[in-house]
Amino acid sequence: MQTKIIKLESETTNIAEAADLIRAGELVAFPTETVYGLGADALRADAARKIYAAKGRPSDNPLIVHIADFAQLEAIAANVPEEAKVLADAFWPGPMTVIVPKNGRVPYETTGGMDTVAVRMPNHPAALRLIRESGRLIAAPSANRSGKPSPTEAAHVLCDMDGRIPLILDGGAVGIGLESTILDLTEKTPMILRPGYITKEMLEDVLHMEVKLDPGLIGADSQRRPKAPGMKYKHYAPDAELILVEGESADVVDTINALVRKMREAGKKTGVIATRETRDCYRADHVMSIGAREDEDAIARHLYKLLREFDALRVDVIYSESFQTPRIGQAIMNRLMKAAGHQVIKVEKPPKRQNERNDETI
Ligand code: AMP
Ligand code: MG
Repeated sequence: MQTKIIKLESETTNIAEAADLIRAGELVAFPTETVYGLGADALRADAARKIYAAKGRPSDNPLIVHIADFAQLEAIAANVPEEAKVLADAFWPGPMTVIVPKNGRVPYETTGGMDTVAVRMPNHPAALRLIRESGRLIAAPSANRSGKPSPTEAAHVLCDMDGRIPLILDGGAVGIGLESTILDLTEKTPMILRPGYITKEMLEDVLHMEVKLDPGLIGADSQRRPKAPGMKYKHYAPDAELILVEGESADVVDTINALVRKMREAGKKTGVIATRETRDCYRADHVMSIGAREDEDAIARHLYKLLREFDALRVDVIYSESFQTPRIGQAIMNRLMKAAGHQVIKVEKPPKRQNERNDETI
C-alpha cells in the first residue's frame, strides 16, 4: 500500500479524501494538539481491528474515541456522570480523556474487551474537521508502532507507518507533545490513569473534590498493575538503552560524563539529553538540548522527537537528566520512566564528615 500525505496548508485544505477513507472503514493518521493519532471509525469492529494490526498493538489495549460534540459522548455512554459535564465545560476541546461506562453501540474491539470507553474532544481544527466531515466518531491511539515514542510530527508517523496506512494528514509539529490526561469516572472518586497536561490540581479545582492518582503509576518499583491497560506495557521507548540520572545538576553532569567515558571506552556510541543550561557540559558522541530547564512546555514538546533523533543516530545508550518541573513534570517523568524501563540512577551527595558539619547541627 502506498502511503499518501496531504499537507494541511490552511484550515480549509480539502480533506474530503480523508473523510471518505474513515467512512469506508480505513485508517487515516491526523494531527491533534497532543500527538498524532491513527484514526478509524470507532463504531466499526473491522475498522478498529485495522488499527491494532497497523500498530502491532496488543488487542487488550483499548483505544480513545475522539468526538467533536458533547452529544456524541452521550450517544456512546451507558450513563454520563455529572463530573463529565463539568470537566467537558472546563477542558474540552482539550488534552483530557474521560473513561465512562459504554453502551452497546461501541464494539469491544474498540475498548479492548472492556465495558468502559475512553472519550476525548481534541483541540485541533483538523481533528475536529475530520470527525465532522466523516460524520463518524474516530477511535485513535497514537500513530506510532506499538512501544515506540508517540509521533509529534507527520515525518514520525511516516517512519513508523509507511506502506501500512493509506493517508497521513500533515499538520506540522504538534503543540503539546505528550498524550492526554486520562481520568477514570467510573468509580466514586475520579482517578487519573495517565498523567498529562491537565494536572490533578486543575481537575480538583474544577470538580471541587479529591482526584486520586492510580497507585500503579506511583514509584519506579511499584508492583501494582495500572488500571489503564496501556500503561503496563514498555512504552514510548527508543531503540537505544535509556538511563535517567537524578540529583543536583552539577552531580548529574559529573555522573553522566563518567558513565559516558566508560561506555565510550567499551566502544559504545553515547547520547545525552541535556537542557540548554547544561548542554555544553557533556562530552558524549551526541548531546541534545530538550529546552530551557524552566520551560516545561518545551521539554514536553521535544521529548519524543529527541528519542527518535537518537535512534536515527544509532546510539547504543542515552543518558538523560530528569525533569521534575512544577506542573507537567509528573507527566514528563512518567513517560521518561517508562521509556527507560525504570532504569534510574540517583546521585546522592556523600554524607558530610563530622568536622565539616555546620554549626547549627552541633
Ligand atoms: P494511546 O491513545 O495510544 O495513547 O492509548 C490510549 C490509552 O488509553 C491506553 O493507555 C489505554 O490503556 C487507555 N484506555 C483506553 N480506554 C480505556 C478504558 N476503557 N479503561 C482504561 N484505560 C483505557
Ligand atoms: Mg500510544
